[in-house]
This record gives sequence, structure tokens and C-alpha cells, in this order.
Amino acid sequence: MKVVLQNVTKIFPSRNKKSNEEVVAVNNFDFTIPDGKLVGLLGPSGCGKSTTLYMICGLQKLSSGRIFFGEDDVTDLSPENRGVGLVFQNYALYPHMTVKQNIMFPLQNLTGKAKLTKDEMLERTLEAAKLVQIDELLDRKPSELSGGQQQRVAIARALVKMPRILLLDEPLSNLDARLRLQTREEIRRIQRETKITTIFVTHDQEEAMSISDVIVVMKLGVVQQIGAPQDVYDSPRNLFVAKFLGTPPINVFEGQINGGKVYIGKEAVMSVKDVPDQKVYIGIRPEGFIVDANGSLTCDLQSVEVMGRDSSIVSTNEASSNPTVRSIIDSDIKVDPSAKTVKFRIKPNKIFLFNKETEERIFCEVK
Ligand code: ATP
Repeated sequence: MKVVLQNVTKIFPSRNKKSNEEVVAVNNFDFTIPDGKLVGLLGPSGCGKSTTLYMICGLQKLSSGRIFFGEDDVTDLSPENRGVGLVFQNYALYPHMTVKQNIMFPLQNLTGKAKLTKDEMLERTLEAAKLVQIDELLDRKPSELSGGQQQRVAIARALVKMPRILLLDEPLSNLDARLRLQTREEIRRIQRETKITTIFVTHDQEEAMSISDVIVVMKLGVVQQIGAPQDVYDSPRNLFVAKFLGTPPINVFEGQINGGKVYIGKEAVMSVKDVPDQKVYIGIRPEGFIVDANGSLTCDLQSVEVMGRDSSIVSTNEASSNPTVRSIIDSDIKVDPSAKTVKFRIKPNKIFLFNKETEERIFCEVK
């Protein structure tokens, strides 16, 4: 089922009696989430991700705008009547109930036409437990489960009512690194199998990039960019998005365009067409550097870290906004770690130019 957010805005009144400063938590969010897709809402703390999710599920009222599930306007419906499954970061399982009782719980509250017999409830519970692969653990209490298993129970409990939309609020943040990886693949598998339109919130760009069909990058309540993860990574619309996606992060330099050349310090590293002379930010992805004795960018070599398949060259440059310049190269390419400097050529599709004032991307041909 598609989810339509039509100019959705949420303004929280000021909490401080002395000031009238309102918080615009979500500002004019306008987007149609396609049917059956996994969408990651991504951004730093406070950017409005959770508020957006809570407005979709009905826990927060909109200040203005409308929300549709398919053709149904759900803006004024209560959460119970929207048909959403919600999974919280802290699982929120009932500690005194077994896994089976936890999953079955939402079915016991169904009334009227939706009311189920005991056998039907059991069947649905087992189905959901199988889907998340915890059917062996049905008689355990939550305290007897690992964090990852508890999160699966929470997902099964959200799925058992066969929701129209599944919403996940930071579903992986309480898990350790290994379980995060495993559980995020699980979420992807479950979403593919059920084909339920799923929206999840995270501040972890790698997590969002790895499992989403579509990512929505937010900053201070405003959507910055929406697209397939790779497209957003390959073509960020502004400096914020460029910096937010990618590990190690993009390298940013202060530079300028002069006579069709892009300068970092005194070195002309690239040519551009039809761009007026101006000061710019220059972003270069770590994988965008090629070690080349005749390269046009010179950096002071700090260290070479060999990491199996790749090597990370750590260097410095006066024009760099980051303390160090990080480049990732194939470890077959040998760099003398005792050298004072290292020279690079830049891959044209890995360098982005941004207006120094607005930080918006300057879209142009770079060679
Ligand atoms: P986090 O990752 O830290 O959860 P988030 O991106 O989910 O952040 P929100 O929780 O949606 O951000 O908050 C967005 C903004 O709205 C923040 O500035 C926050 O302080 C503010 N806010 C959220 N809830 C309320 C509230 N009930 N009353 C007032 N302001 C609120």
C-alpha cells in the first residue's frame, strides 16, 4: 500500500513560557512512499524522523497537511484504526508473558467482525513466529532471549495483525554490531516476503543505505534528498547530504573555480565548463583518489593503513576542512609509508562542487 504525505508539517509549541519559539519538527514533508518498498528515514538527532513516523502511525497529530494510505485519508484516524504495526527501539515486550503470549496479545483485543477464535489466533501467532524464525522459542520469557531475538518477537507482534504498513523506530540501535548486521538482513528478508510497505527510522547511514529501497535524508525538519541509496550517494544535492552518507566520510576542501579550473590551494585539480569564478567547497569521496606521481593534488603523507583488500592513505592538506584526508585505494598499489608527500589524480565522478554560501551542489561537467 502506498503512503502519501501531503505537505505534512508538525510544529510543537514553545515549552518555555518566556519565549515564543516554536519547534518546527517537520516542515512541509511532501512525498509518496511507493507500495511494497522499504523506506529509510535518515538524519541526525532532532531532524524530525521520529515525529514523521509518529504522524504516519497516528501517535502525533499533524499541524497541517494530510496523510493517505492508498486512497484512504487517515489524517484524523486513531492509531488503532490505521492498520499499522509499530516496532520500537526498546522492543516494549511484556516481561511476564511468554513469547507466544506477547505475539498473540494484539489479537486478543480484536472485536466485532475482526474477532478471532483461539485456534485462529494460535495459527496466526505461529505463522508470525515462523516468519521471524523464533518458533522454537515460543515458551520462553523475554528475559531469556538475546536482544536480537527480543527484537524479532517485537516484529512478529507488529506483523500478527497483518498491518497495512509496518513502522520501525530505530529497530537496531539496542543491538551489538554483529547482531545489528544479522537483524538488518532479517528485516530486509521479512519485508521482501511480506511485501508490506515498511518505513524505518535510523540515524545510521550505513544501516539505511544497506537495506532501503529508498532513503529520505532529513535535516532540521526539512527533507534534503529522496532517492535510491546509491543514487543519493553518487549524486548528493548539497554538502550536508554528501557529508552524511559514506564511511569513511567524504573529504571536503575549501577551494575555488578560476578560469574553468578547480583549485585546491594553488593546484588545479580539475576542469569545469561554464561555471563562473567563485569560492567553493570541493567534496572528494575516499575512493575517488588515484595515486599518481604526476597527479595534480599533493598531500603530506601521515600513514598508510593496509586493511586486507584496501589500503587507507591518511594525509593532510592545508585546504582540507577535515583534520586529515582519507583516501581508499586497492592494497595492490604500494605507497612508500616513509615518503613525505603523496600525489593524487581525482576520478571525475567522485568529485562534487558546492556553492560556498548556500552549500548547494553546483551541477556541472567536471573533467
Ligand atoms: P532522534 O534521533 O534524537 O530521536 P529525531 O530525528 O527522531 O531525533 P524528533 O524526535 O522527531 O527527531 O524531534 C524533532 C524536533 O522536534 C526536535 O527538535 C525535538 O526536540 C522536537 N520535539 C519532538 N517531540 C517534541 C515534543 N513533544 N514537544 C516539543 N518538541 C518536540
